[in-house]
Order: sequence, then C-alpha cells, then structure tokens
Amino acid sequence: MAKIEMKTPLVEMDGDEMTRIIWQIIKDELVCPFVDLKTEYYDLGLKHRDETDDQVTVDSAEATKRLGVAVKCATITPNAARVEEYGLKQMWKSPNGTIRAILDGTVFRAPIVVKGIEPMVRCWKKPITIARHAYGDVYKNSELRIPGPGKVELVYTGADGSEQRALVHDFAGPGVVQGVHNLDDSITSFARSCFEYALAQRQDLWFATKDTISKTYDHRFKDIFADMYANDYKDKFEAAGIEYFYTLIDDAVARIMRSEGGFIWACKNYDGDVMSDMLSSAFGSLAMMTSVLVSPHGYFEYEAAHGTVQRHYYKYLKGEETSTNSVATIFAWTGALRKRGELDGIPELVDFANRLEKATISTIESGRMTGDLARITTLPEPTKLNTRDFILAIRSTLES
Ligand code: NAP
Ligand code: MG
Repeated sequence: MAKIEMKTPLVEMDGDEMTRIIWQIIKDELVCPFVDLKTEYYDLGLKHRDETDDQVTVDSAEATKRLGVAVKCATITPNAARVEEYGLKQMWKSPNGTIRAILDGTVFRAPIVVKGIEPMVRCWKKPITIARHAYGDVYKNSELRIPGPGKVELVYTGADGSEQRALVHDFAGPGVVQGVHNLDDSITSFARSCFEYALAQRQDLWFATKDTISKTYDHRFKDIFADMYANDYKDKFEAAGIEYFYTLIDDAVARIMRSEGGFIWACKNYDGDVMSDMLSSAFGSLAMMTSVLVSPHGYFEYEAAHGTVQRHYYKYLKGEETSTNSVATIFAWTGALRKRGELDGIPELVDFANRLEKATISTIESGRMTGDLARITTLPEPTKLNTRDFILAIRSTLES
C-alpha cells in the first residue's frame, strides 16, 4: 500500500528516558510504515538542551508558531539530582514551561476511556476533561529567600510614572516570598478557548478559583470568564443545551467526586497541573491521559500528560524487561497527525489517525496490555506485554 503523503511537516520535539525509547518504536512501527512522515526535528533531550543552553527549546516553540502543529515527547525538568546526573551547566527551566510561555494558551487533558479499565470513582461514567491555563502564576514566578528582619513590598511603577505599593510582609526573621502575575490578555484567551472547546464538544464548562481568599487576583479570572460568558456565549450555550458553571475550587472538588463526569473543568495553571494527575490516576493510569496545548493564535502542541517514566528507564538500562504504557504517547502522535490532516485537507491522514487510535483501544480491550493496566483491569486473564510487544500488538491490530 502506498504511504500517506504529508504536506506540511510536524514539529517533532524528542525527549528523555523511557519515553524517548517509546518515541522511536512508535515512529518505526506505527507511523513510518504507513505515513511518509515529514517532521522538523528538535532534540529536547536534556543533554542537547544543555549543549544548546536551552536554545533548542525556544527554537522548537518558534517552529510551532511557524508550522502550527507540534508533537512532544516527555522531557526531564532538571532538579539538583539531574544537574549532577547529567553534569549540567545549570538547572534549566521546565521545557514545557518555556514552550507554554512562548505559545500561551490552554492545555486540555482528557482520559482515554477503554472497556475493562474502570474509574476508581464509581459514579464517574464519562471522561472529565481538564482545561489547564498554561500561562503564568507560580510557573512564571520570582521568589526570594528572606535572610532576616526586613520589609517586603510589591511595587508597581507605571509607564506614566504612577506608583502602587502593597505590603507583603514585615519580616521579624527569615522566611520566603514569591511574586506571581497573570495578564488580562492571557486570561481572556484562556476563557475563550474553554468556551469554544465546550461548544465544540457539547459539554458543560465548570470553572473554579479561590476568589474568596484572593479577592483581586483570582477574582479577575472569575470576572473575565463571567463577562465573556454573558456577552459572547450565553445564547450559544443555551442553544447547545450546555451550561457554564462557576464555583469555589473547594466546592468544585467535592462536586466532581459526586458527579457522573462528561464535562470540561477549567483550572488555573497550578490547579490544572495537580488535578490532572489526580484525575488521570483515578480514571485508571497516568499513561491513559492525552494532553494538547491550544494557543489562542491557533497553534497546537500534542503530548502525553505523564513524565519520562524514570524508574522504568533505569530497568531498561540494566537490560531488564519493561512494560511501559505507550498509549498517551501514541495519542500525542495521532492528535498531531489528525490536526495536520485537518489543516492541510488530507482526509487519509485524519482517517489513519482515527484508525491507529481505534487499533490501540481494541488491542487493550482484547486483553493485551502493559503491566500498569493489567494490574487494574476488570477483564478476565489479561496478557501483560512488554514495552515493545505492546506496540507490535497494536501494529498487527492496525494491519488486520
Ligand atoms: P512519571 O514519568 O510520570 O512516572 C511516575 C510513575 O507513574 C512511574 O514510575 C510509573 O509507576 C507510572 N507511570 C507513568 N507513566 C507511565 C507509563 N507510560 N507506563 C507505565 N507506568 C507509568 O514521573 P516521574 O518518574 O516522577 O518523573 C520522571 C521525569 O519526568 C522527571 O524528571 C520529570 O521532570 C519529568 N516529567 C515530565 C513531564 C513532561 O514532559 N510532560 C511531565 C511530568 C514529569 P511505576 O514506577 O509504579 O510503574
Ligand atoms: Mg503535573
């Protein structure tokens, strides 16, 4: 069979550890035999980020602005241990943070639902999609350790020379302080992508912050959402038979545990980071969560929501057998290929992405899966496959 032709290359962001191993197998076994793959390759592996003083991360984000669609492998965010392990020049920032700061936008994360992997929360019947604001707050903070007594103030110096001050704390002894920010523009585009996504999915949209405590900062988020809903979306939502619902984050968490699912939960940056790990684990596995960054300018970056699976990689390096789940990384590829097909008008590519997803799901539903799923499945006598064999099983499902 002739391979499917592509027009525009994908931005390919390679990564680290076990996910880098999986990345190559997916390309070799599931993509390249069927698609005449065109990519612009950026190696975001930690070693190469260090060699390029992290310029490669910035370049890959700039390429995404130029080409529109990227697919990203999980990458190490260095901490002190990684600086030593890789002999790094410095503790480079999170690549995801750098990319999100350049592209702006919202990260949508949805569990991949398969028969036989039942949510831990018994009342959840449908997937819950998290919409994570991808700009600012603690991810763009500046922080200080306070060595001893002294006063910390927030000072705003306006371009017109005006000034605003607020006391943060009058320290009697050592402590810590941090400054965070967000932008009306970024919150507005976050709100817009959430309302648009909810309409496209025909699902209710929930939004929650801590506006009772953060009366200016979080309240600004609440107001921007409320105004946009009233002005631009109320009629459209009513026509589509869906709802916009705002509540306090504590209340939202409690309600979600009693809900049936089937809605979109818009979260501020930190809430979305933490809650998506909780949701994906509760839906079955970290490895069954898709993630896409949708920028307000129409750029898309697809990735898996999990990390580089370091523990499995060390086993792999010792020559031991691993059973690492590649589903979320496969869905990052299918998401990117499908979007490229839609943008470039290549229905065969869209169709291929859909078929690869179906083959992945039906392989699991036929009882062949990786260890993380075999441990929790309700299917009788599942077959636990190793990392490579699972991908090969998907290939044979796809080919049949
Ligand atoms: P992780 O890679 O998400 O893995 C944590 C644990 O979850 C694994 O040890 C494994 O449990 C399970 N798991 C996650 N993904 C799995 C998969 N695909 N198949 C099977 N099991 C899976 O987090 P980590 O090991 O704590 O972090 C490793 C590195 O990832 C860190 O350097 C961090 O900076 C980076 N990270 C990157 C991203 C990103 O690029 N998007 C996101 C998060 C973390 P068992 O060991 O029990 O099998
Ligand atoms: Mg996280």
